[in-house]
Amino acid sequence: MKYFVLFGPPGAGKGTQAGSMVERYKLCHLSTGELLRSEIAAGTPLGLKAKALIEGGNLVPDEVVEGMIESKFKSVKDVDGFLLDGFPRTIAQAEALDAMLDKNGETVTACVSLMIPDELIHERIAHRANIEGRADDARPEVVENRVKTYHAKTEPLIEFYKKANHYHEIDGVGTIDEVRERIFSEMDQF
Ligand code: ADP
Repeated sequence: MKYFVLFGPPGAGKGTQAGSMVERYKLCHLSTGELLRSEIAAGTPLGLKAKALIEGGNLVPDEVVEGMIESKFKSVKDVDGFLLDGFPRTIAQAEALDAMLDKNGETVTACVSLMIPDELIHERIAHRANIEGRADDARPEVVENRVKTYHAKTEPLIEFYKKANHYHEIDGVGTIDEVRERIFSEMDQF
């Protein structure tokens, strides 16, 4: 099985590019953001807890997302691997992922990192707010907090995956087609 980590700041285009990646490489797309939003929509106890955190631009606890990911690893069949979108988002989550995979003698295949500058994050999220209507996209102070959280808690993963020799950075500035071609030319090697 292949385990791709799709990495990048909020608004980098992970969700946009994920569809063509899972199709080309026969992967299961696991977006922790989407999984959490469906818990919220279903009004589950977990969703209720997550809602306030997400709408404040904060992360949900590591154990929550780790549990969601591990149960998907166990239940999803008939794929060549997984595309992890929005997970891991902290060093603790990355270590938990390594431990989960290690139990079955597996490792992360590659971290595919979509990079855009902070100015573009704000521009893209403002645009998406009008289209998707996500509560955490609507308020500038919440977006600002997500960017801060990204720099403080998630960005250290770049060094983590560089050290493990798994880091592959892709320029996320350009048209959707241009970025997709850059991703494919990097991922085709795995
Ligand atoms: P974006 O990439 O635009 O920030 P996501 O859909 O990936 O959006 O995530 C939305 C929100 O869900 C995050 O701001 C965070 O509150 C929560 N979330 C998603 N993934 C994780 C994670 N791995 N750990 C903690 N919180 C998460």
